[in-house]
Amino acid sequence: MDILKERILQEATVVNAGVLKLDSLLNHGVDPLLTMEMGKEFARRFEGRYVTKVITVESSGIPVAFATALTLGVPLVFARRKKTLPGDADAYVERVPSFTKGIVTDLIVSRHLLSPMDSVLFIDDIIANGDAARGLLKIIEQSGAKVAGIGIVLEKSFQAGGKALRELGYEVESLVRISSLEGNEITFE
Ligand code: 5GP
Repeated sequence: MDILKERILQEATVVNAGVLKLDSLLNHGVDPLLTMEMGKEFARRFEGRYVTKVITVESSGIPVAFATALTLGVPLVFARRKKTLPGDADAYVERVPSFTKGIVTDLIVSRHLLSPMDSVLFIDDIIANGDAARGLLKIIEQSGAKVAGIGIVLEKSFQAGGKALRELGYEVESLVRISSLEGNEITFE
């Protein structure tokens, strides 16, 4: 998605060789028109797939997942993130490491929001090692729902997450793939 590449070049900063700061577009702010374009692009890429719900992880995945759900005309579910949680029998819970915060958090989805009749499209902002994605996929699996596909705004392809999910057989569509952040420079694939 060329417009997204341009905006990343204009607005992102390289924190180090593994981390990109993209606050204005993904992690701390939202451009509504660009976000709607991302949602439409995901809807186009997964056209023809049976999708009953879009699912994401709070908080940065929500705007683009909302745009995708709106375009597809289906509801959106977002996993909550908590540091600790007393046992909750009404929820699926998966503990995942947080790439940016260096802590573990629990991903939580209420059981009544997913059913074996669902075919869910998983949308997220950034994939690095894929821990958050694997956690959410485990929750979807426990619910009996199917995974229609995985859409990622920004895949850092020099980290293992996207490749690992494809090797597991998932269809992963990334709007932008970054192959390196070495030397303070953003290199697209
Ligand atoms: P993963 O679980 O794939 O290792 O990391 C995914 C999550 O960590 C993303 O949802 C995103 O919020 C955060 N993340 C991973 N890499 C980056 C990065 O380079 N920049 C920012 N801002 N967030 C990142």
